[in-house]
Amino acid sequence: THFGFRDVPESLKEKMVGQVFANVASKYDVMNDFMSGGVHRLWKDHFIRSMAPGPGTKLLDVAGGTGDIALRFLDYCHRIHGDATAQVQIVDINSSMLEVGRVRFSRTAYTDTDQVSFLVQNAEHLDDVPSDSVDVYTIAFGIRNCTHVDRVLREAHRVLRKGGRFMCLEFGKVENPVVEKIYSLYSFEVIPTIGQLVANDRDSYQYLVESIRKFPPQSVFADMIRDAGFTTVGRGWEDLTFGVAAVHSGFKL
Ligand code: SAM
Repeated sequence: THFGFRDVPESLKEKMVGQVFANVASKYDVMNDFMSGGVHRLWKDHFIRSMAPGPGTKLLDVAGGTGDIALRFLDYCHRIHGDATAQVQIVDINSSMLEVGRVRFSRTAYTDTDQVSFLVQNAEHLDDVPSDSVDVYTIAFGIRNCTHVDRVLREAHRVLRKGGRFMCLEFGKVENPVVEKIYSLYSFEVIPTIGQLVANDRDSYQYLVESIRKFPPQSVFADMIRDAGFTTVGRGWEDLTFGVAAVHSGFKL
């Protein structure tokens, strides 16, 4: 596909995103490390610490890809509580990404237990997930890839139990003008070039940068979360690394 990523029509977005993640699946984990200098690991660790799941928590990790969040979640429950009853279901629209995750889990103690399961499904229609059935819903670096963010949020609200928590880790906007300048240069110049050199796929990483640029600022996204019925604490998000990423959270009360 060589039309610009900037102006992808809504009807084509899902297909294009599918192509992007099918292309990058096998290199996804190493590319994250390359592009973020490993910082995505710190963000994800922080995300799980903020969740602070208790024993037996049932997590639905949507757009879970290769399982970064799911694995950290189970490790946290094991390490902090010695708990082996927590459960996570990893949902992704893309079976290639889930397959990488499955292989990864097969090398852990969680494989062949009921602690982890996989489901190919669109975040906008979680048809196989019952209403009021999960304690925590996570979506990390996934929601900006979805065509209808409002539908994703509505589905999140439906599947959570009363008192359950929605948590989203996503790229945000940097307010500090100096940091913003550096970050822009890095995203528009360096990231596509790393994509070219390491994964031989400039277009997919060009898409990544565009999708980050197009996603709404933290305050607007927090309003969307409240519009979907969630109750937030304070403004509803925490900036990480000057707002390069942000943790959004809301409760279904
Ligand atoms: N959560 C993982 C992480 O933090 O490493 C993966 C994030 S990856 C950048 C985005 C994932 O979103 C991809 O695996 C992609 O297939 C998935 N995705 C994109 N659109 C989706 C949709 N509509 N429903 C479910 N998953 C979707």
